[in-house]
Amino acid sequence: GTGKYKGMVEDCCCDYETVDNLNSEVLNPLLQDLVTTPFFRYYKVKLWCDCPFWPDDGMCRLRDCSVCECPENEFPEPFKKPFVPGLPSDDLMCQEGKPQGAVDRTIDNRAFRGWVETKNPWTHDDDTDSGEMTYVNLQLNPERYTGYTGPSARRIWDSIYSENCPKYSSGETCPEKKVLYKLISGLHSSISMHIASDYLLDESSNQWGQNIELMYDRILRHPDRVRNMYFTYLFVLRAVTKATAYLEQAEYDTGNHAEDLKTQSLIKQLLYSPKLQTACPVPFDEAKLWQGQSGPELKQQIQKQFRNISALMDCVGCEKCRLWGKLQVQGLGTALKILFSVGNQDIGDQTLQLQRNEVIALVNLLNRLSESVKMVHDMGPDVERLMEDQ
Ligand code: FAD
Repeated sequence: GTGKYKGMVEDCCCDYETVDNLNSEVLNPLLQDLVTTPFFRYYKVKLWCDCPFWPDDGMCRLRDCSVCECPENEFPEPFKKPFVPGLPSDDLMCQEGKPQGAVDRTIDNRAFRGWVETKNPWTHDDDTDSGEMTYVNLQLNPERYTGYTGPSARRIWDSIYSENCPKYSSGETCPEKKVLYKLISGLHSSISMHIASDYLLDESSNQWGQNIELMYDRILRHPDRVRNMYFTYLFVLRAVTKATAYLEQAEYDTGNHAEDLKTQSLIKQLLYSPKLQTACPVPFDEAKLWQGQSGPELKQQIQKQFRNISALMDCVGCEKCRLWGKLQVQGLGTALKILFSVGNQDIGDQTLQLQRNEVIALVNLLNRLSESVKMVHDMGPDVERLMEDQ
């Protein structure tokens, strides 16, 4: 072997081999089941092409680009109800007057307080105009090759990298500055993996399949892109495990009782997987960041850059790419919020609060990354050989 994928994932707490085994044996099978449950397969999204930066260039009409929206009667009923804003439910408020209130730790232990509309300082919020939101069945709209390419796609990636997350120089030692670049690069690798693994090989016969050359060309022959993908996977995994109490208690209610129990059970199996707890209990150590003197300003700057990236997703000129772009950037934004904003001033609250849609995005993003990591791993000796050919 080349040793390129040996040792620890950069800035993370687990090594490549452990991540591969944990992913293939435990996490990937659970995630694959989880994303098919009714709770996780419907995603609320504003799909309009309303880019504030450039005019529409007509890419939206590409055949493989269009998203199939759900018929109204397919959305889970509880998803349609408006959120009840304001106070936490009565049982929380009444605790204080009760004799047992003084020592009752339910208030502290109760992480989940119902789904709420809540701000995320890391993302560009456009959830306000709910009239323009649609529900999409993600299972019917797989992330794959769409034909979206050329200058339109290029300028999105270019502006993401050049304006919002400049590649750090090799001497850069500030880990905070590296994180944003690595997250985006890792996501980019994962998107490219999905394009290459589900590619339109022959247009006339509509034959789809794996495009190994593309996989090699875009990702595998760039070791840093593969490494960043593992990094992003562990980063998002850490966010999920950090939110264990919240995710365990959350209501996965879609009105389909049997399915919802299954969702709840899969979530628990994921969060409390013995293998995860022994092999990679802390996939990424967020506590090491923002400690320096300029920590708060640095965080604000990186937060602003990520918000810009999130806003840029409205400019992705292909509906299906925009769907997955928005979902995965929202998922990353949710991970950033869980890891860096809870217990801090910037969300004005010590406790974690997530929107239902954020949880759906987070888990679907983790699954996409998990699939990509598995694809790289499954190439096995081929990857090593390709790397040696370099
Ligand atoms: P691109 O992938 O466009 O990359 C542009 C440049 O970025 C490369 O030349 C390289 O310098 C750099 N780069 C590439 N990968 C990395 C990396 N991992 N880390 C750091 N730098 C890198 N197309 C689809 O077919 N289906 C989709 O679902 C889809 N979703 C998309 C979602 C978003 C948000 C965007 C912006 C584009 C999406 N596209 C999708 C388009 C796709 O990502 C490519 O842009 C397109 O296939 C053209 O690829 P390319 O070879 O020109 O390189």
